[in-house]
Amino acid sequence: STNGDNRHYRESSPLQIFVKAKKKINDIFSEIDDYVQDSCKYVESIRYNEALIDSEEAKKIVEYVTKVKGIRDVLSRDHMKVAFFGRTSSGKSSVINAMLRDKILPSGIGHTTNCFLQVEGSENGEAYLVTEDSAEKKNVKSIGRLAHALCEEKLNEHVLVRIFWPRDKCSLLRDDVVLVDSPGVDITPNLDEWIDKHCLDADVFVLVAHAQSTLMVTEKNFFHKVSQKLSKPNIFLLNNHWDTSASEPEFMEEARVQHTERAIDFLVKELKVCSQKEAAERVFFISAKECLLARTKEQEGLSLQSGALAEGFPTRYFEFQDFERKFEECISKSAVKTKFEQHLQRGKTIASDIRVTMDGLYEKALKLRNDKTEAKKGIYEKLNYTEQRLILLTQQMKEKIQQMVSETEEKVKKALSE
Ligand code: GDP
Repeated sequence: STNGDNRHYRESSPLQIFVKAKKKINDIFSEIDDYVQDSCKYVESIRYNEALIDSEEAKKIVEYVTKVKGIRDVLSRDHMKVAFFGRTSSGKSSVINAMLRDKILPSGIGHTTNCFLQVEGSENGEAYLVTEDSAEKKNVKSIGRLAHALCEEKLNEHVLVRIFWPRDKCSLLRDDVVLVDSPGVDITPNLDEWIDKHCLDADVFVLVAHAQSTLMVTEKNFFHKVSQKLSKPNIFLLNNHWDTSASEPEFMEEARVQHTERAIDFLVKELKVCSQKEAAERVFFISAKECLLARTKEQEGLSLQSGALAEGFPTRYFEFQDFERKFEECISKSAVKTKFEQHLQRGKTIASDIRVTMDGLYEKALKLRNDKTEAKKGIYEKLNYTEQRLILLTQQMKEKIQQMVSETEEKVKKALSE
């Protein structure tokens, strides 16, 4: 739905950092594209004049057209990616569903996720899934069908199933967040392959742990491997099933302190991925099940608290929202940095390369004219009309390119500093 609250949430969401940066960089590249095409047309028009441009130079300019097109393609597909890990039944699917405010992924007994499931926004407003082995779009009418379709497939644990879900139903999907659910880290001997295949481009990792137990070697091991392959991965740690602690309030505070200490030690001392202060903002105590229930009630127009909820729900719900906000901030900043910075640098390089070529052309054109005037003293006025035009054109082109380069540099500088 697109009610006022939702709109307000969207506008104030930290995800807008990424959304706006993406729009800006796409605009910059659309301009670079125009200039590159102009330069290319110009180069084509003087190609016959071998004294002015050699074929290597001309080829280079022409190739930029394809390069820029390639970058624009990648840019239009860029997104923010978050991957969820944890043991079987820790609540990974429930957390994803709660964040998407809908029961999209099958969860619970009999629905153990045995392959990688990636949820992303669908362009055409339809729900469908695509498996790696075929290009066929399999229609998904309901969650029951999705679970069924996944069972039917008999998938291998490395396989990625992409679930496309209408964007207008969840703000995360609308803002280009892609969420990946994984099989339990306790059931695979192939962590390395998982990481290489599915994790290297993740902006954020979320470890979903069962709050009733401590972090196990399998869970820790996975993140040790991740941080060997990626420098300082962004990791959030969710102690899920926190509602079940509500029945034992006498142990709750103690458990929370202990879990928090261990989690922070894990992030700071073992993995060394963040500072003590940052780590304190990465550990949360939540109940995904409760949160999903409350949000589905809310979608039905009922009050948030109308489900059967355990004691202390408002606090846990608040903590879940706190997690979402910190997560959104982290993922959008990380994605802008990793995805856009290098593109902007390439855009700058292309612009200045073209400038160097144009400067060279101009120098040559001038020299050509001088040579001619030397040779045919006094008949400068009779200088070939096309050559006059050529010099003028080259000069115009050079000025245009110079302007483009300084504009691009300015914009890139601005975009990078924001
Ligand atoms: P996954 O295998 O990690 O994806 O786990 P699921 O999301 O499928 O959850 C496993 C079971 O735990 C399901 O029956 C969920 O309803 C239940 N569950 C998930 N989160 C919570 C929670 O916070 N509290 C409680 N009480 N149950 C939960």
